[in-house]
Amino acid sequence: MKEDIIQLSIPTPFAVGDVHAYILKGEAVTLVDCGPMTEEAEHAFVTQLHEHRLSIDDIDQVVLTHHHADHVGLLNLMKPHVRVIGHQLNEPYISQDPLFKERQITFTKHLFQQLGVPLRPDECERIVKQSYTYSCTAHVDDVIKEGDRLKGHEQFYVIETPGHAQSHLSFLDETTGHFIGGDLLLTTISSNPLMEAPYEGEERQKSLLQYKASLNRLLHLPIKTIYPGHGQLITSHHELIEERFKKQEKRANTMYQLLKRKEMTAFHLCRKLFPVLYEEALFLTMSETVGQLDVLLEAGQIEEVQKDGILYYKAN
Ligand SMILES: [Zn+2]
Repeated sequence: MKEDIIQLSIPTPFAVGDVHAYILKGEAVTLVDCGPMTEEAEHAFVTQLHEHRLSIDDIDQVVLTHHHADHVGLLNLMKPHVRVIGHQLNEPYISQDPLFKERQITFTKHLFQQLGVPLRPDECERIVKQSYTYSCTAHVDDVIKEGDRLKGHEQFYVIETPGHAQSHLSFLDETTGHFIGGDLLLTTISSNPLMEAPYEGEERQKSLLQYKASLNRLLHLPIKTIYPGHGQLITSHHELIEERFKKQEKRANTMYQLLKRKEMTAFHLCRKLFPVLYEEALFLTMSETVGQLDVLLEAGQIEEVQKDGILYYKAN
C-alpha cells in the first residue's frame, strides 16, 4: 500500500528553527516525532492537523526518531491509549527519570573536569536540566530496533542510526525510497554528534565515529527522498554527505595542526575552534571537539596523556 507522508512544521525556541513531524496514513495513523512542549508548538501542531482534517484523537501511535526535546515535547498532548514507539534509550529521557538525571549530572561534571572545562559544579547541573525544559513526561510503550517493521506501515523498516543521539532511529520505505531521517542529515546545518551519559558500567560512546558510520550506511541504502527533522526535503543525499565528510575532515585537520604545535586540553581546543560560539553553546561545541578528538585518536594521529586528572592531547 502506498503511504501518504504529511509534513507538519512546528516552531521551536531553538536556533535550529522549525522541527518537522510527519503523519503516516496507512493501516494506522502514525505521528513520527512531535514538537517541543511550548504553547506556540501546540497551536501550530493542532492547526496543521486540522488543515489535514485530523485531530489529536485520530493519532493511533507515535514513533520517535530520537529523544531530543524538540522531537518529543508534545507527547504530553497524546491521549493515554496512544502508544509511544522508539528505541529503548529514549526511555530515561522522555520519562525524565530522576536517577538518570543524577547520572547525567555526575557524568558531565566528571567529563568536563577531565576535559579541562573550568565550570562550577552547579553549572553542569544547569546544563543537564536545561535540556529538559521543553521535553515531556512519557514512556516508551513498544521498543523497536534495527530491522523491525513499523506496525501499520509494514513497508517501513527500522534502521539504527546513532551519533546525533544514542536513541536515533530512521525509517526506510523500501517500495518508494522514502526515508524518514530525524536529525541524521539536514540541509540547513550539520547535525551535531552529542556526548551522552553512558548506560551504567559502560564507556562513553564515541558519537562522531558512530555518526560517520551512520552517514556511510545511508550511501548504501536505496533512498530517494529524505524527510528530515528540520529544513528542506533532501533528494541528493550523496552530495550532501560528501560535503559533510569534507567539512569534518577539514576540522579534524585544523585540530591536528594545532596539536602539532602544542599539546592541549579539549577545552583549550574548543575555544580555538569556536572562539565565539563556545560560551553560549558549550555542550554542543565540546561535543564536536571531543568527537573530532575521538576520530584523530582512532586514526592514531594523536595521543591522550593524563596529568593530575586532566586529559591532554598531542600529535604523534
Ligand atoms: Zn536532535
